[in-house]
Amino acid sequence: MIKRREFLEAVAAAAAAPILGRQDATAEWGSPVFDLHFHFRPQPAANIAHQDGAGVTKANLLTRGRVVDQVKAAQAAAPGRFTWFNSFDVTQPDAEQALTQAVKDGAQGFGEMKFHVAADGPELRRMYALAADLRVPILIHFQEVDHFPNEGTWSTGFAKSFEAVLKSHPRTTFIGHADAFWANVSENYHNESAYPSGPVRRGGVTDRLLGDYANLFGDMSANSGNNAMSRDPEFTADFLKRHQDKLLFGSDCGCSDGHGTGASQANNPGAARIAGKCVARETLGLLKRSAVPEIFQKIAWGNAHKLLRIPA
Ligand SMILES: [Zn+2]
Ligand SMILES: [Zn+2]
Repeated sequence: MIKRREFLEAVAAAAAAPILGRQDATAEWGSPVFDLHFHFRPQPAANIAHQDGAGVTKANLLTRGRVVDQVKAAQAAAPGRFTWFNSFDVTQPDAEQALTQAVKDGAQGFGEMKFHVAADGPELRRMYALAADLRVPILIHFQEVDHFPNEGTWSTGFAKSFEAVLKSHPRTTFIGHADAFWANVSENYHNESAYPSGPVRRGGVTDRLLGDYANLFGDMSANSGNNAMSRDPEFTADFLKRHQDKLLFGSDCGCSDGHGTGASQANNPGAARIAGKCVARETLGLLKRSAVPEIFQKIAWGNAHKLLRIPA
């Protein structure tokens, strides 16, 4: 294990901005912040640098494969600041065994699940059943429109088939994320673009499912979540109010310092609106402007703790 002094020196070297402790992070946003959607970085200091730079108190590390040792090292380097979700290639026969082992090793959810399969296909259905058995939530990336040529689609069929999945897996806790999940807040969306703009037409699939199904939650991360909440301020305020117990702040930010340095959205041309910015900061600012402090606190902190059954 890295010694505390060496670790702090590494953090200081990695962070371009002054390091904020947990108390300062709370002061910056008026509430502690839990980032549900943070992709694990191999250098422990790089994970901390993004948290501290963006004023995030605690982050959920998203990993793939058999990585328990790396996760434990990151958690040991910064006690209390990282939870963990793991994913595994759902087309592989040992996916269930690997994910079961991850949960035994401390993973508190499955995710992010991002594979070229149908949302209601047999590969993911096996994972929905396993998540229910192990009593952990499952975080899914829904995307129907390429960001790059021939990228392919991910967990396809959200708008058409996911209601049936919610119905047939009532014991599974689902967390929806990404382009198709968020574009479908508007009723007039038909996969014409990854990030539609303009006023939201009421009655979208995502809005309805969040209202009708106790087992569905929304992960507000990435350009997709930020874009959806930037389209129509009146809709956004009302949406946050109505689903205040079902929404979870997340960043999915790739920037290095919590201030937008580097590539925040993997140079996705469709997400140019957020290039050079920290997605965590952009979305936290947007939520603060759009919701009263009590609702902001639920979305930024309280809801994730309830969902993961950990003390806030
Ligand atoms: Zn994703
Ligand atoms: Zn960032």
